[in-house]
Amino acid sequence: MVILLFGPPGCGKGTQAARIARRFDIPAISTGEMLRAACSAGEQQGEACALVAGGGLVDDDLVNVMVERRIARPDCRNGFLLDGFPRTLPQAEFLQDLIERRDLVGPTVIHLDVPAEALIARLASRRQCPRCGQIYSQPGTCDTDGTDLAPRADDRPTVAERRLRAYREMTGPLIEYYRGDGYHRIDGDRPPEAVFQQIESLLEARLVRVHVARSR
Ligand code: AMP
Repeated sequence: MVILLFGPPGCGKGTQAARIARRFDIPAISTGEMLRAACSAGEQQGEACALVAGGGLVDDDLVNVMVERRIARPDCRNGFLLDGFPRTLPQAEFLQDLIERRDLVGPTVIHLDVPAEALIARLASRRQCPRCGQIYSQPGTCDTDGTDLAPRADDRPTVAERRLRAYREMTGPLIEYYRGDGYHRIDGDRPPEAVFQQIESLLEARLVRVHVARSR
């Protein structure tokens, strides 16, 4: 099962991605997290890291190669969830080609919809543990290692605005690309549990349909 999680920054994608991954036993792959980790480990070029920190999109080829390598790993054999990829049409076409080459079933797109005003407020209060990277919805200390939480650099209001703008620009063409059977728009402005329940039941229904189609 290939799941693509779409939604603006601050819509709760990370939380839902982790829950879906646990429930369906597939890895959740966030290109943003991979890029941030590579930048803080000094493994990524300064130019790409400046784009990540500033809320711009990094080069398609760079992210495509990163995703291709990641999904070639054995834990992706039965499927995977992508959070933050694809973000452009060339990335979507590249992914489609990868899916066909690996003989995987076409993606299920979960699009979490949250109004802009709610997003700005969520991003302003969002915090991250500088040590383990865990995201929290408010200030405090990390539940895992007790470290003081800090705002994520790209959640600062000006950068957050730029990320939201970039998201709005990319959404239209991508939704056109995926519109159809596997595309689901979900109201993300609800408690995470309610959002997850809706996602879980639509993915369960999809699994059954795919199973029936493949066994014919
Ligand atoms: P995210 O955590 O998904 O909001 O991603 C953080 C940042 O990583 C984005 O603002 C971009 O700079 C970069 N990034 C993540 N995924 C992609 C992608 N698919 N294409 C281009 N840039 C990306």
